[in-house]
Amino acid sequence: MRALTLFGDRKLELVDAPLPPPPAEGEVQIAVKAVALNHIDVWGFRGMAFAKRKMPLVVGAEASGEIAEVGPGVTNFKKGDPVVMYGALTCGTCPACREGRDNLCENVSGIMGFHVDGFARDRLNLAARLVIPVPKGVSLRDASCAPIGFSTVEHMLFDNAKLKPGETILVQAGGSGIGTVAIKMAKAIGCTVITTVGDDEKVAKAKALGADHVINYRKDRFETITRKLTNKKGVDVVFEHVGGEGFNGSLLVLKRGGRLVTCGSTAGPTITFNLMQLFQQQYKIFGSFGASMKNIRTSLDKMAGGMLPVIDTEVTPDNLETGLQRLESRQVFGKIVVTF
Ligand SMILES: [Zn+2]
Repeated sequence: MRALTLFGDRKLELVDAPLPPPPAEGEVQIAVKAVALNHIDVWGFRGMAFAKRKMPLVVGAEASGEIAEVGPGVTNFKKGDPVVMYGALTCGTCPACREGRDNLCENVSGIMGFHVDGFARDRLNLAARLVIPVPKGVSLRDASCAPIGFSTVEHMLFDNAKLKPGETILVQAGGSGIGTVAIKMAKAIGCTVITTVGDDEKVAKAKALGADHVINYRKDRFETITRKLTNKKGVDVVFEHVGGEGFNGSLLVLKRGGRLVTCGSTAGPTITFNLMQLFQQQYKIFGSFGASMKNIRTSLDKMAGGMLPVIDTEVTPDNLETGLQRLESRQVFGKIVVTF
């Protein structure tokens, strides 16, 4: 079978690997159909000095597939069922896992495709408890964007920032995979959405997704425009995942008591910010990483209800590097999916 394998920093190959054994007790074997790309794949591809992992490593953190074989003791799946997979090997028994806070598992063995072998291969065995059925009417291509692309945003907006109907939100980098989802999810509950993009072509695309105001941050200061649009009050929530220089701007456009939720730092992980501003303005800052199994189910239900991911490009497994480069260069609008 094919397996997209990373042998070292920026050394990715499609290799021929042995098929997995029959699934063990409590496991299913999955025939992978689509793998969606995320920034974590770019970090993994570039190499991260402090990441604990061993090469070679099969890549792919977010995917969908079909049940190919069912192991002993598994009763909730049958051959041919469309499914998505949770992207980390949680323990299933710690208090966080038992309470459904899967992304806070105390004994997680690693993130698929980053610390441990991932989904970009024809077949793999996985504990059935980490597998979620795809509802009728949702394609496997679209479903592949649920475990990270959709559910990360679901977790950020609703579990962490507690976004409410009628509020105003600034979505940073609205053309990114998660930015496009954040626009759709916030609009779906009746929020006013302001978003930033890096070129004029993306302005029209973000408007087409429903964004009320789109700012080309390369031409205009988003801080100035956002404050003007909110009558100098600021927004209720900022959806952040860019970091770097823009982070202070994101704080500046929050109204007093506003919430900022972040899950990324593509423009740089280290900044300085003013603590007096933080406490005087009573900001709430949420760090968010991953999602719960429940967030994935909700995401799939939203897809079944018609909220579909924006797909930028579909690539074949031997072309994954093209997809990663597109993601790295920020040309992308929406998600890149590798179809198996
Ligand atoms: Zn656990």
